[in-house]
Amino acid sequence: MMASEEEINLLVIVVDVNPVWWGQQAQRETELSLSKCLDAVMVLVNSHLAMGRTNKLAVIASHCEDSHFLYPGKSWRAGDSGGDDAYSSGDGKYELLSVVNNLIAEEIRKVMSKTEVRGNSTDTLLAGTLAKALCYVNRVSKEFEAGQEIKSRILVIKAAEDCPRQYMNFMNVIFAAQKQNILIDACVLDSDSGLLQQACDITGGLYLKIPQKVALAQYLLWVFLPDSDQRSQLVLPPPAHVDYRAACFCHRNLIEIGYVCSVCLSIFCNFSPICTTCETAFKIQLPHMVKPKKKKLKQPS
Ligand SMILES: [Zn+2]
Ligand SMILES: [Zn+2]
Repeated sequence: MMASEEEINLLVIVVDVNPVWWGQQAQRETELSLSKCLDAVMVLVNSHLAMGRTNKLAVIASHCEDSHFLYPGKSWRAGDSGGDDAYSSGDGKYELLSVVNNLIAEEIRKVMSKTEVRGNSTDTLLAGTLAKALCYVNRVSKEFEAGQEIKSRILVIKAAEDCPRQYMNFMNVIFAAQKQNILIDACVLDSDSGLLQQACDITGGLYLKIPQKVALAQYLLWVFLPDSDQRSQLVLPPPAHVDYRAACFCHRNLIEIGYVCSVCLSIFCNFSPICTTCETAFKIQLPHMVKPKKKKLKQPS
């Protein structure tokens, strides 16, 4: 199957670089470190760029309270790659690949050395990073002329556990992506993520919790390199069970049955007469309550 010349494939990779989680991971097992994970990401990045001349790429690091573009960076813009000695490898390698690899390595070093970590929670600002990814996709698609088809997808490489506090923002991002026909894929390294399961299911992406972390690069190449058209011809891992539980707004617990505010659709595990989100007071008809009869107003004659 030949891709048409006009078709542009944009892949946005979101990497969870949460230093607390990666630090704990290094103590638990040494088979996959953050630098090895980034090596695997670079293999995917290089393969994606080598697959097609028009393929586009962005890589965003998701930190505890922040997210950073690793590529494209502020210091380098598409179009001025020619003759830039600072980035070219000089060994005859495809120039774009060495530019991208050097830039990602440089940026990740900056990110990890600059940002301070407060506390030791392993929450990652994933919803915010995904929103940034969507904004980037939107910007890129506006840069191209009408008629050029852009297929965009976001791949999340998830390390830390889900943060139920981000439930609302996360769901908003998912529905925005669905509206824009942007696939969200998830490659989960450790504990399953209910939020990403929903994201992949709603947007038509692939969710995979990899059975062996050492083989990350292989899973990225086998499962996540092919785009949605090519995937229909492949035998991929069976779809994961989707945990569709929602987080209650009061305790951020995942619940199956709860109370929903009829005004703002907030979810609660316990009944409360006033919605804590929109402050609507619910009028509950209790059995012993008798409604006062309305007096008919006489029209002034
Ligand atoms: Zn609750
Ligand atoms: Zn409400």
